[in-house]
Amino acid sequence: MKQTSQFAEAFPALNQHVGDKPLVYLDSAATTQKPQCVIDAVEHYYENDNANIHRGVHQLSMRATKAYEGARSKVASLLGAQSSDEIIFVRGATEAINLVAQAWGRPRLGAGDEVLITEMEHHSNIVPWQLLCEQTGAALKVASVHDDGSLDVDSFKELLGEHTAVAAFAHVSNAIGTVNPVKELCELASAAGAVTIVDGAQATGHMKVDVQSMGCDFYATSGHKMFGPTGIGCLYGKHALLEEMEPWQGGGDMILSVSFEETTWNKVPFKFEAGTPNIAGAIGLGAACDYISGIGYDAIQEVEHELLAYGTDVLSNIDGVTLIGTARQKCAILAFTVDGVHPHDVGTICDHEGVAIRTGNHCAEPLMHRFGLSATCRASLSIYNSPADIDALATAIRKAITMLG
Ligand code: PMP
Repeated sequence: MKQTSQFAEAFPALNQHVGDKPLVYLDSAATTQKPQCVIDAVEHYYENDNANIHRGVHQLSMRATKAYEGARSKVASLLGAQSSDEIIFVRGATEAINLVAQAWGRPRLGAGDEVLITEMEHHSNIVPWQLLCEQTGAALKVASVHDDGSLDVDSFKELLGEHTAVAAFAHVSNAIGTVNPVKELCELASAAGAVTIVDGAQATGHMKVDVQSMGCDFYATSGHKMFGPTGIGCLYGKHALLEEMEPWQGGGDMILSVSFEETTWNKVPFKFEAGTPNIAGAIGLGAACDYISGIGYDAIQEVEHELLAYGTDVLSNIDGVTLIGTARQKCAILAFTVDGVHPHDVGTICDHEGVAIRTGNHCAEPLMHRFGLSATCRASLSIYNSPADIDALATAIRKAITMLG
């Protein structure tokens, strides 16, 4: 394996020192770095085309609208949606899930209904459902996770039933990297009559997603975890479901006409995009889609699989390090604890060595409880990482053990 990544050069932020150490960025599950083409696309919009969209008849507005709607088509094609109408721009996966809970779930659920999630969910795929349950009287059910971090599909099956109105689960766990059998879960849930929403925040920067062959009803993702800007993401929804749904937020652009007597809604997807959206963000996300398509998910997977195998091997061979989450189907996320050293101390010592990792509960407190932990260290990888980055992490961990272990 090459000692440096051929992709790193495209990411200007990686070319810096932290103190006197070269930056080793291992926090891509929190947010990926941005390639120059994404930065350029955002800059180009502000420097040349900055105008509000949809409403203007002048050149700048028309150019901005074309770029914004072009980005929607790029996202639709990357995710394998049938049409770009099925893509709603939102702030990120969090907003996408809240939108489904409130616009689809709230008018439809009541006492006796159930929402099925899993023990490995990010808080953003737990709390919106807890809110919905509180608002409607529905009950939350939680499928369990095996000791290796894989989903207990039998427990998912057992909890599915005629009362399950929604099944919501992660495509990839942000805390431990487990890749769930989403196609199978969608099939099971749909057969039970439930609507499915897959949280794809940790998937779309790493693996091919095809919403149609997956068979999900909704798919949520965040631009900033797939090389795009922050504050932009998307919700995929099957057209028929989006048509049935009432708007979530009211305001400009989501209406056809407004009077004090009666207001009518714009068509899908605009019905769900009230107010001026994150135009620059969407354009940047479109550029990120181009960037990913240019490399291809096969190439991304190849790099990341090798890194995961190398990282798993290196960390397993450090005395006192325990890997948390070793499912067979995994993305390049290495969660671990170090005997006798608090994760935050490991993180701080890593930072002194220029190595950026994440420590804490990773917004997955119930999963931490499942493993009897309050926090872990997490190194999360992307195409710009190299085996040398993992070696730097190993050196920093050894230092932490020598100093504090
Ligand atoms: N789901 C998962 C699995 C995540 O990793 C994250 C972000 N850490 C989210 C949802 C929420 O994404 P965002 O904060 O971009 O809305």
